[in-house]
Amino acid sequence: MSFARLIKILLPIIFLLSPTVSAENPLESPSNMVDRPISWTEQREQLTLEYSMKHYGFARTTIEPQAVVVHWTAWGNAEGVIKFFDQEVNEDGEVQVASHFLVDRDGTIYRLTPETRLNRHAIGYNWCAIGIENVGGVDGREDLTVAQLNANVELIRYLHQQYPSIEYVFGHYQQKEARASGLFIEQVEGYYAEKPDPGEKFMHALKIMMSRDGLKFF
Ligand SMILES: [Zn+2]
Repeated sequence: MSFARLIKILLPIIFLLSPTVSAENPLESPSNMVDRPISWTEQREQLTLEYSMKHYGFARTTIEPQAVVVHWTAWGNAEGVIKFFDQEVNEDGEVQVASHFLVDRDGTIYRLTPETRLNRHAIGYNWCAIGIENVGGVDGREDLTVAQLNANVELIRYLHQQYPSIEYVFGHYQQKEARASGLFIEQVEGYYAEKPDPGEKFMHALKIMMSRDGLKFF
């Protein structure tokens, strides 16, 4: 058999076996995503390890994402939120809160930390959940925008593709119902805070828009 003929036979097989990249299966991150890393220092690493040990019983700074928790900032502008998350220590001397992503009102997605970083954004779930904050919800107003909704859909689809281990998506206000996932861990008794974010309307719309994505909502 000639080399040319062998290639002719093998080429379709190689094509079939190689991973497909198509319009239905994009591997790129969302086009409106911008890297905007908050500081990661030895002190923040140490405080994260302490938080993880205290609340989960194991000392880690990384996660294998199994859930996405959606939030609102209750703060009107992205810059103020980034500045706040950028502080390493909170007023109690513990690691400052932070989310992995911050979605601005025009749908711009800021990636603030690596997706596998253990960030403090949802009590009981930080060890396994990626956090998406949305700028809005000041005074509890359900005012997140359509651009934010579309950006959340695109971002969660991208994350689900990158991390097939992700099974659940829920709003911060659904933290109690989400215990049905079996993912909730909290070692400190009574450590809990009731949350309204990101509003029922937003989560309902997200659930409908993602009803065919193979993710579990509450
Ligand atoms: Zn929240």
